[in-house]
Amino acid sequence: MHACGHDAHTAMLLAAAYGLSRERERLAGTVRFVFQPAEEGAAPSPVDGELRSGGRDLVESGAADGIDAAFALHVWPGLETGGLAIHRREAMAASSHFRFTFRGRSGHHGAPHLAADALLMAAHFAVEANSAVAVASDPLEPVSFAFGKLQAGTAGNVIADTAEVLGTYRAFSDATVKRIRFVLERCASACADRFGGTVEPSFRMGKALINDAAAVELAAGAGADVFGADQVHVLDQPSLAGEDFAYYLDKAPGAMLLIGVRDEARGIVHPLHHPSFDLDERAIALGAKLHARAAVAFFGAGLGIKEHIGFYVVKPTQERPCVGFFCYIDRYCPPHRNVCVSAV
Ligand SMILES: [Zn+2]
Ligand SMILES: [Zn+2]
Repeated sequence: MHACGHDAHTAMLLAAAYGLSRERERLAGTVRFVFQPAEEGAAPSPVDGELRSGGRDLVESGAADGIDAAFALHVWPGLETGGLAIHRREAMAASSHFRFTFRGRSGHHGAPHLAADALLMAAHFAVEANSAVAVASDPLEPVSFAFGKLQAGTAGNVIADTAEVLGTYRAFSDATVKRIRFVLERCASACADRFGGTVEPSFRMGKALINDAAAVELAAGAGADVFGADQVHVLDQPSLAGEDFAYYLDKAPGAMLLIGVRDEARGIVHPLHHPSFDLDERAIALGAKLHARAAVAFFGAGLGIKEHIGFYVVKPTQERPCVGFFCYIDRYCPPHRNVCVSAV
């Protein structure tokens, strides 16, 4: 179970699409709704064979072409329902996923000198990589590095011929992201070499999510209309979580919004990815209204969306700017099949 709230994201965006579509004649622009797969997928991409990123794949296949602004939201269990958080600028780190596959030579435990132990290569790498990353990191810049999976061998009395190590690291600057990749590859290669094996690295490189100041202001205003001004929190400190919405912001300015789904009274308190994660479903209507209100605000529209999505007044313009909204779904399909382009 992914436990990230993507079913709620889908419901919010569908509801916003429904509400905005009913008022399409009065909207001064085009809204594109994108239902994105594989926010955090790590299997090989059907597009290029690299570790998968739904955001990167969709942007490369044109899902964000021609848009003037892009907004996305994600449920946030650290915040009570009825609250909204927006990072002022740096929002989330470039979260880079890696997989190192060590290859040795299997053999009998009675004759280890004739084998090459892949498990030993991976174990040394798991220990030494921490030091390698530590000394390659600027102490003034936040960096996070950790392994999540180590798998090797088939039996206790057979020397392992293959071992896999998976993990992630997170940082903000492109230079640090590249430097850490370099030291990890060098460290893995040294560990494989030391025990007579080889290693194949595979990376899914992340991108830091940086919100745009004007988009933050617009989203905070829309948030104040839906949630109340005292419930909108603009954050100065970024999160070291990762978010591939960053790829859309390469194409257009925008912002990522974090919507509260916590309900202490009902025990809905577990973080994302926790096996007991749940969300307060009252937040679904709020998220839908927020999407719709932001679209209206972007087109320079009027008031009145609080009670019912679609009650607003829009000044028609000759030019029809385009704003994109994004949410995530868990099932992966080839690019475009998940892209619902809807002129509303
Ligand atoms: Zn997730
Ligand atoms: Zn997610």
